[in-house]
Amino acid sequence: MRTKITPSCGFKKKGVCPICKSGSLAPHTPFCSLRCAQLDLGKWLNQDYVISTHEFDEDADLEKLTTQIDKAP
Ligand SMILES: [Zn+2]
Repeated sequence: MRTKITPSCGFKKKGVCPICKSGSLAPHTPFCSLRCAQLDLGKWLNQDYVISTHEFDEDADLEKLTTQIDKAP
């Protein structure tokens, strides 16, 4: 099976839910349902959360490292 890769093909017009890849449905476009819209939002919030946690972890590691250096003779 061949797939035509053209920007003007049905793919864009139809609209596909970026979460579950099924057809998007109003009023939740570009998503298919409220659930998928919320999932996408959660994805972004999660990413933000992960970044903050990562920064915090680095700080904690640095503190641990500094403590170890302090303890060394
Ligand atoms: Zn969906």
